Amino acid sequence: GRSLVEIRDLRMWFPIRTGLLKRHTGNVKAVDGVSFDIREGETLGLVGESGCGKSTCGRAILRLYEITGGSVKIDGQEIGDAGPNTLRRMRPTMQMVFQDPQASLNPRMTVARIIGEPLDEHTKMSRREKTAKVHDLMDQVGLNRAFADRYPHEFSGGQRQRIGIARALALNPKFIVCDEPIAALDVSIQAQVVNLLEELQAELGLTYLFISHDLSMVRHIATRVAVMYLGKVAELAPREELYGEPLHPYTRALLSAVPEPDPEAMGGSNRTILKGDVPSPSNPPEGCNFCTRCPDVMEVCHRVDPEFRQVRPGRWVACHLFEEGASSPSNRADTES
Ligand code: SF4
Ligand code: MG
Repeated sequence: GRSLVEIRDLRMWFPIRTGLLKRHTGNVKAVDGVSFDIREGETLGLVGESGCGKSTCGRAILRLYEITGGSVKIDGQEIGDAGPNTLRRMRPTMQMVFQDPQASLNPRMTVARIIGEPLDEHTKMSRREKTAKVHDLMDQVGLNRAFADRYPHEFSGGQRQRIGIARALALNPKFIVCDEPIAALDVSIQAQVVNLLEELQAELGLTYLFISHDLSMVRHIATRVAVMYLGKVAELAPREELYGEPLHPYTRALLSAVPEPDPEAMGGSNRTILKGDVPSPSNPPEGCNFCTRCPDVMEVCHRVDPEFRQVRPGRWVACHLFEEGASSPSNRADTES
C-alpha cells in the first residue's frame, strides 16, 4: 500500500540543564535520526526495551512535542514544523491510545463527556448529534451505552481502555499510535483489547503504530516490525522475516531472550546474553550505538555510525555487517581485515 506516514531523520532531544544557572550542558537524545514509512492499513510494531525512545518517538510523530528536527508527513502533509493551526486541523487524522487508561482519563468526567470531548473541540455537533455519536462509539468498542453517565473508576481496566479507544476514534482518524495499550491490563483481558483493535482496524481501515516491549504480542498483531535501540531504529522488516531471520545483532539478542517453547522456531537455540547496560542516551557511544554491547563488534563500529539502509527488498538494517560485500553475518571475518 501507499505510505500514510513518512518519517525522515526524526530527532527528539531534551536539553540537560545543570547548576544554579541551569546552563545547557548537553542533550538526552531520546530519538536520534529515525526514518521509516507506515503504510496505509498496516500495523507497524515498534519494539525495544524500556527507555529506548519508542514512546517518545510515537509522541513526536503525533507532534505532541515540539520536535528537535526532521520531517513527519501524515497523508502528504508536513507536520514536523507545523504551527498550532495546522496541527489543530490535522489532529482529527491522527490520534493516540495511551498505556494507562487510569491516568489518561479524567476521573471527574463521565464517560459520555470523555468520549465527547474531541467532538466539542473539533466539530460543531448539536447535543443530540453528539449523544448519538457517543452511543455509536460505545457500541463500536463494546461498552454498554447505558453506562454513559458513569465515571472511569466504575469500570475495569479493560473497559477503561475501551473508553480510551472510543475517544481516539471519535474524530474518525486514519492513523492511531497505540502506546503499550495493553501493558497495564490483566493478562486475561489483554487479548480482548488486542482483538478489538484488530477488528476496528479491519472495519475502519485504520493504520497503527503499535508500540510495545511485548515481542510475542507484536508478532501476533504487526504487519512489519521496527526494532529500536538507544534512540535509533536498528532493524525494520516484515513480521515473519524479522522473527524468522533477525539480521541486526541487537534484534538477534532481543529475540533470543524471548521464552519460546520451540527454540528452533526463533532462529536457533543459541541464546545471546548481552554484556553491560544500555548506555545513557545523554552520552551514546561513538560510531554504532550498539558497539559497547555487540557480540559481533568490529573495529569500524567504534568510529562510523552505520547507515540505516535497505539490505534486501523490504529489509532495513543499520549495521556494518550488512554493508557492500558483507551480505550475511558469516562474511564478517572477510570484512574485518
Ligand atoms: Fe554490531 Fe558493528 Fe553492527 Fe553495530 S555496526 S550492530 S557494533 S556489528
Ligand atoms: Mg513507554
